[in-house]
Amino acid sequence: MSRPLSATTSPDVPAGALVLVPVGSLEQHGPHLPLDTDAVIAEAVARCVADRLGRREVLVAPPIVYAASGEHQMFPGTASIGSAALSHLLIELTRSMRTWARDVVFVNAHGGNSTALTRGVNRLVAEGHSVGWVPCVTDGADAHAGRTETSLMLHLRPAEVRLDRAEAGNTSPVAELLPALVAGGVGAVSPNGVLGDPAGASPALGEHLLNLMADRVTALVRDGTPDERGKLRRASAPVP
Ligand SMILES: [Zn+2]
Repeated sequence: MSRPLSATTSPDVPAGALVLVPVGSLEQHGPHLPLDTDAVIAEAVARCVADRLGRREVLVAPPIVYAASGEHQMFPGTASIGSAALSHLLIELTRSMRTWARDVVFVNAHGGNSTALTRGVNRLVAEGHSVGWVPCVTDGADAHAGRTETSLMLHLRPAEVRLDRAEAGNTSPVAELLPALVAGGVGAVSPNGVLGDPAGASPALGEHLLNLMADRVTALVRDGTPDERGKLRRASAPVP
């Protein structure tokens, strides 16, 4: 069983702790998924990783929910602190945790946080901290509130998924949409806020995807070293 940092007493914090910090967002996820979808996914992956590592010194911190979601700001409910503030938060949090923890790893489920993670973790590595970050990704995942995230949420929080409202958004590859997305935000390319298509989502697929993500993150936490972006990579098997 994974150990939550929040429920641990100070004397019970193990020596040589490895802290997994889920990083999510509070942003629109289409008409059918809750705003904290990324935080729910990041925390679930972190818990699975802690279980797989199976060491008592692994702790799962409460998720960082306020993050960098400027590209979703035109949709109500989105609550973002931006990349600069998030980067600063990651830096101060790590400096604090590292007074008692041996390692800190950020488990990120929102692509928009990559800039802040890269900046923050880079700075921390330069300061000599043992820290890295890993994305929650699988091959073939769609971008936002589509089949991947809808399946994960049907597995993790089924009561919060409004399947009757699920509808396809813009299904073009994100790389193609990027210029318009950067210029005008998600609303400019997808009026309903979905990048992908939730059709075909299921709890079973969600469980499968969660396991794939957890396997990948576990391998990186176990054997990875930070690259120039602070992202953990295995020397022998680069990941995207
Ligand atoms: Zn998301």
